[in-house]
Amino acid sequence: MSDPAVRLKPGRERSVLQRHPWLFSGAIAGVDGSPALGDTVDVLDARGMWLARGAFSPNSQIRVRLWTWDPAESVDEEFFARRLDQSIGRRRSLLASGETNACREVHAESDGLPGVIVDRYTSFRAVQLLSAGAERWRAVIVQALAARADVDGIYERSDVSVRELEGLSERTGRLWGEEPPAATVIQEAGARYQVDIRAGQKTGFYLDQREHRRLARQGMEGAEVLNAFAYTGGFTVTALQGGARSVLSIDSSAEALEMARENVGLNGLSTEACQWSVADAFTELRRLRDRAARFDAIVLDPPRFAATAAQADRAARGYKDINLLAFKLLRPGGRLFTFSCSGGISPELFEKIVAGAALDAQVQAAILQWLGQPSDHPVVLSFPEGRYLKGLVCQRLA
Ligand code: SAH
Repeated sequence: MSDPAVRLKPGRERSVLQRHPWLFSGAIAGVDGSPALGDTVDVLDARGMWLARGAFSPNSQIRVRLWTWDPAESVDEEFFARRLDQSIGRRRSLLASGETNACREVHAESDGLPGVIVDRYTSFRAVQLLSAGAERWRAVIVQALAARADVDGIYERSDVSVRELEGLSERTGRLWGEEPPAATVIQEAGARYQVDIRAGQKTGFYLDQREHRRLARQGMEGAEVLNAFAYTGGFTVTALQGGARSVLSIDSSAEALEMARENVGLNGLSTEACQWSVADAFTELRRLRDRAARFDAIVLDPPRFAATAAQADRAARGYKDINLLAFKLLRPGGRLFTFSCSGGISPELFEKIVAGAALDAQVQAAILQWLGQPSDHPVVLSFPEGRYLKGLVCQRLA
């Protein structure tokens, strides 16, 4: 029995040949057979030549997400076991280094598994199934993960709105094994953090900022630090470990800051040096500016302002605003660690926004470092859309 197939319009095979994993509805001339949500379809060019196979999503703009470009590779239990194995294997050296016991084990498109996210928190796995194809193979993916020796429990965190675009509703809950506790303690580069896998943001922790949290330990001796968008205090902890005299942490989430406070204690650090502000960071930064507050180091790690390039304008204004305020709050010689996780804002655009912010703040500043994604959040070369996180370490000169 042959799989259903989608036939492309003439000349629209280019992206498939270049191994881009997304096939948009506009490229498709017709569908043979009647594939259901998430079913595997063959992709044929206008002359009927086989190009790839992927998961069909009848209501999404991204009509097919490609699983394979190899005609001999079928999409079945073995396929998922193999891809998961390879992806997890690529993290072996990161985990073996002892640097961390938490990492992203599967980063969706960039690991050959569109729509599949697996985050490891010691012996628990948090899973997001974001596409029709991922959903279709849910049981197989869970089974393959459960078969691994180092897994005690698998928990689903598919409570993300992108599922709607695929015709799927949000889902959370235990998928297999033990239910994770309210706080799973992970260790990362000499720090320990509690992670709420069941109800924390994303899958519980911002694993993608691991290297930057470690970086923020440097040069903190005696510093007065502002950590805006602090979440559970990742940068608060490392700044204190680096010898910061004080850290003011701002976040709009009271629960996040409560866990941040606990994380400070968990690392044997004194909360006396800490101030906590449950507030909107935009408002709070303005208030600090009006009070003429000054800091030696500032971390700006806001949530995603723009998912797509279409939302880039509004996002750019948001970034400009907070970076401008941050430059004003920075002492001469002070450093700004500023980030954007908006896929719709390119690294070049982000740099321009930050440069504009310094100019408008009438501050001379230099870029000391360009920051990006860690190795467990790779960007496969055929899928530049996988690049979302960028950061700059800037220093105020005068
Ligand atoms: N730096 C953190 C991750 C930050 S994620 C870490 O290393 O773990 C972004 C944070 O911004 C979230 O905790 C979210 O609650 C918070 N947030 C979102 N909008 C906000 C706003 N307007 N003001 C303050 N905090 C906000």
